[in-house]
Amino acid sequence: MGNRFQVRDRFAAGAQFVGGRLRAGTSGRTQAVVDPATGEEVYTYELAGAADVDDAVAAAKAAFPSWSAATPGERSDALHRLAAVLTEQAGELAYAESLQCGKPVRLATEFDVPGTIDNTAFFAGAARHLDGVSAGEYSADHTSYVRREALGVIGSIAPWNYPLQMAAWKILPAVAAGNTIVLKPAEITPFTALMFAQAAQRAGLPDGVINIVSGAGPDAGERLVAHPDVVMTSFTGSTPVGKRVAEIAAATVTRLHLELGGKAPFLVHDDADLEAAIHGAVAGALINGGQDCTAATRAYVQRPLYEAFVDGVAALMGTVRLGDPADPATDLGPLITHAHRDRVAAVVDRARGYARVVTGGEAPGGAFEDGAYYRPTLIADAPQDSEAVQAEIFGPVLVVLPFDTDDEGLALANDTPYGLAASVWTRDVYRAGRATRAIRAGCVWVNDHIPIISEMPHGGYKASGYGKDMSAYSFEEYTQIKHVMFDNTAVARKDWHRTIFGDRP
Ligand code: NAD
Repeated sequence: MGNRFQVRDRFAAGAQFVGGRLRAGTSGRTQAVVDPATGEEVYTYELAGAADVDDAVAAAKAAFPSWSAATPGERSDALHRLAAVLTEQAGELAYAESLQCGKPVRLATEFDVPGTIDNTAFFAGAARHLDGVSAGEYSADHTSYVRREALGVIGSIAPWNYPLQMAAWKILPAVAAGNTIVLKPAEITPFTALMFAQAAQRAGLPDGVINIVSGAGPDAGERLVAHPDVVMTSFTGSTPVGKRVAEIAAATVTRLHLELGGKAPFLVHDDADLEAAIHGAVAGALINGGQDCTAATRAYVQRPLYEAFVDGVAALMGTVRLGDPADPATDLGPLITHAHRDRVAAVVDRARGYARVVTGGEAPGGAFEDGAYYRPTLIADAPQDSEAVQAEIFGPVLVVLPFDTDDEGLALANDTPYGLAASVWTRDVYRAGRATRAIRAGCVWVNDHIPIISEMPHGGYKASGYGKDMSAYSFEEYTQIKHVMFDNTAVARKDWHRTIFGDRP
């Protein structure tokens, strides 16, 4: 593949990007980046420690006054140039993303990288459209208006499942609105966040606007959230870690945006296009090896279609080709680590005690022995309150259950702590309308599952968190509004002073 490069050479100086310079961490602890397809170490680096986080926050703080004072047009130009640099580097970004995550290079090439470029182009435009209410005389004696202002230094923490897109989702709205940022990628997948920051530097964003600290969660991550100069934490990851982040942020009253776990329902009514639902379920469950917070995880199928759906999904899962992620013909790569694969396998093994594993349910042997592979898996007839239905598995595992009435289907769809995404499959516009209203989730698809677009918000309900990524709505997280009020009377004794002075002259 022409766009391959040696990660050891590319990041020879280290995996920290602070004040525009790549450098080594100073925690004294090392971290290996492992190719999950082979188990081979591809890069080892020194993790960021507290001193690196402090340096990165200081660099971001120093860059804030001039970056926040740049005009929206200037910030927009810089982001347009960034989109162009990312486009030039698309091939190597896809390669690096595939290598560190084990995700098929086809997915990285057709989804992760173009999605990131489109997001960058979107925020380049949106940077010039920060809206507010018009100025006006809401009291006869005053003129009021609202200023929308950048917050300052943002601390962001990202997961390993889509390292490039998660970095972009955090960085773009923050810097488009005039903030500066310190982002901590997951320590096992630092490459593409670093490459994004380097691309931004090439595009002319000033040093210090985007900083990357590659460190472990409990030390670098917690230090970043607790840092007194970090005014907002934007976190994407699991719900348990999100709760810990919220606890730390409470001590400094740091503003929070939490994008947490998901357990998306996939609700198939008896009038649905069965073939479309089967294809949608397999693609929606297996994308990125099921390591997707919006992946289809719980299919509820109305009784008349249930058996045909189970048979159809199992048959289609059987056609999915596991393989080397670098091979464009591969449909499904390994999971992120061997330990994660073993956790997924353990959930499925426990499910054998209360449900039917229709297909999959094992790690493939032979050529796949060294990688963290797991076969596409369908579990049927699990009770609603079982682990397989309630817990986020984050692997290529779909659970399917029958339902009878529409009300029952909706109640089951809403019956987990999560509320990130959902889909409803029906040809009946009234059923679809009712379901889209009733489902408590931040996104509901009708007759599809997974597509996202830069213009529309992404974010959770319930234990899936709060706040929005992407779209102009994300500016609500990364800006604050100020009411400015001018007195228009120029008199010393204003009418309202009567509340203090009465009618005394
Ligand atoms: P995770 O919660 O284990 O880790 C996420 C990040 O938090 C990593 O960078 C990690 O180093 C850091 N971290 C860990 N402990 C920390 C601590 N004590 N303080 C501060 N930071 C800490 O999640 P993961 O396994 O990397 O990612 C998978 C999870 O992310 C899933 O639950 C998935 O649903 C969720 N996710 C959600 C969305 C969304 O948009 N809602 C998107 C992608 C992934």
